[in-house]
Amino acid sequence: MAATDPPIPAIKPTDPVCFYCSRQKNAIDPWEFQILDIGRLRSGAELGCQTCDLRYRAVSCYSSDPDQRVIFQADPKRLTFDRRRFFEIFKLPGGDPCALPTIQIGYPLSSSTASEETLVRIKGWLHECTTTHDACRGAESSQSYMPKRILHLSHEGRVVLMESVKPQTYACLSHCWGPSQSPIKTLSTTIDSFKNEIPSQKLSATFRDAVDICRRLDIRYIWIDSLCIIQDSDEDWAEESAKMAEIYANAFLTIAATKSKDGTGGCYSNRDVSHVNCGTVIEGSVFIRGQMPRFGGPAGSKAAESWPLLLRGWVK
Ligand SMILES: [Zn+2]
Ligand SMILES: [Zn+2]
Repeated sequence: MAATDPPIPAIKPTDPVCFYCSRQKNAIDPWEFQILDIGRLRSGAELGCQTCDLRYRAVSCYSSDPDQRVIFQADPKRLTFDRRRFFEIFKLPGGDPCALPTIQIGYPLSSSTASEETLVRIKGWLHECTTTHDACRGAESSQSYMPKRILHLSHEGRVVLMESVKPQTYACLSHCWGPSQSPIKTLSTTIDSFKNEIPSQKLSATFRDAVDICRRLDIRYIWIDSLCIIQDSDEDWAEESAKMAEIYANAFLTIAATKSKDGTGGCYSNRDVSHVNCGTVIEGSVFIRGQMPRFGGPAGSKAAESWPLLLRGWVK
């Protein structure tokens, strides 16, 4: 503890939070922050303060220097040592909901969004969506809308452009075309051959990944603008682009290639190791990791550069 810090007042047995933590707990501004050193947190923990204990365990994953200052946000889940690297504390789902109510639920992440673990997570979210959300329940069985053209992903691995398919579950792709434009598109000269088959080697990396995601999720149809609208027909463009809101709204799932600035980037990405590697705060239930970056951000910011799709007007 730094020499200038006054001693911590004793904790009342009725409130297992120390003087400093209770002051912050009652703060009106949730963004108010508190600067404490690790030595003080250890003393608070030894006095029986549960918040200090949790914070002490969390910061101990990264530093054991008692004079190391740590900046906490009003709730105990976000902290930084130097205002450059931020960390978040999270608890796994399924535990006692009354325990640590201010700690957000989080999931451990795998290093690649292409991994099997990520697929299992996506399937879990879809299951939760279709079984617990009032607006989404039964969406698959009651599908009544189908875009005029759609790509069919056959069991044999072929991608075929189809028209007038009876309504069934389909996905949409949201993506940036990029300055080079889409490398593959449906034109009045290619539509007939695409109705026979679109060779997968002609698909861009982003389209190939989107098809792969659909196949892994057992979704047999996907709508992609450049392939489902005839790009050199003004008439078709006017007709189909007017229906875009409906097309996206009726999709079972929209795959957003947020990190790709064009078709070469694909839909999968690798994560920063600081978000993947977790420190243990409470064995088996509470962990700490580098804070996940926030989506979006103003043009020119690091966040905006990371997710070019989110800067596009139609996504905002
Ligand atoms: Zn405390
Ligand atoms: Zn839902």
